[in-house]
Amino acid sequence: MKTIGILGGTFNPIHYGHLRMAQELAESLGIDSIRFIPAANPPHKSTYNISASHRAAMVNLAIADNPLFRIDEQELNRAGHSYTIDTLQNLRDELGHDVSIILFMGSDAFTQFDTWHRWQEIITLCHIALVQRPQTSKTEPSRKLSPTLESFLHNHYTETSDDLHTSPAGYITMRQITALDISSTAIRDAFQQGKATRYLMPDSVIDYIQAHQLYL
Ligand code: ATP
Ligand code: MG
Repeated sequence: MKTIGILGGTFNPIHYGHLRMAQELAESLGIDSIRFIPAANPPHKSTYNISASHRAAMVNLAIADNPLFRIDEQELNRAGHSYTIDTLQNLRDELGHDVSIILFMGSDAFTQFDTWHRWQEIITLCHIALVQRPQTSKTEPSRKLSPTLESFLHNHYTETSDDLHTSPAGYITMRQITALDISSTAIRDAFQQGKATRYLMPDSVIDYIQAHQLYL
């Protein structure tokens, strides 16, 4: 079965944590192509006045030289909130039901997963691949999974990549990746404080931020 990975995020801005996670999951899960899906209007957070088109432009620059990666701008073209469930439904309408879709997620995002719109239906449309993310934020306490999410994880869990290739949706797996303690929050702070951001993200993205005077 053809297998595609998707990575949603605000990408405000995109950085090597996102890119490395996508690359390593593509290799360890045997994925044919990965779509980066910038959120237009994230229900859970502010975008600090950086427009969706700037965030998408930065994603485009960051992925330009990787044939495995592409951008999917469907959430930008949709009015109102962007919910993952709607995005997945659109992908299914586009790709059909004989394609395996794997939603990538960092551990921080998964601890909030049971607050997502119609979250229990999401697993009927895709698999989920989880990666451990270093404890980035100094202000956020480390969060554990709620009992609801613990049992959700348990009920869908597999360690076998084959499961993700022989069915289109329904499994959750976890993979080890190189731990990169990089976050968009820390990058925005660094820009604001006039600190260097080199080696945290592609130079093309840094050049774009400087040219458009973002995060000042
Ligand atoms: P912010 O600090 O603004 O929340 P972020 O760095 O967390 O930004 P997001 O766009 O919120 O980036 O993340 C999108 C997805 O990528 C989430 O599933 C998140 O867990 C994952 N992710 C982001 N950074 C990393 C990283 N360094 N390692 C692993 N996963 C990451
Ligand atoms: Mg985040």
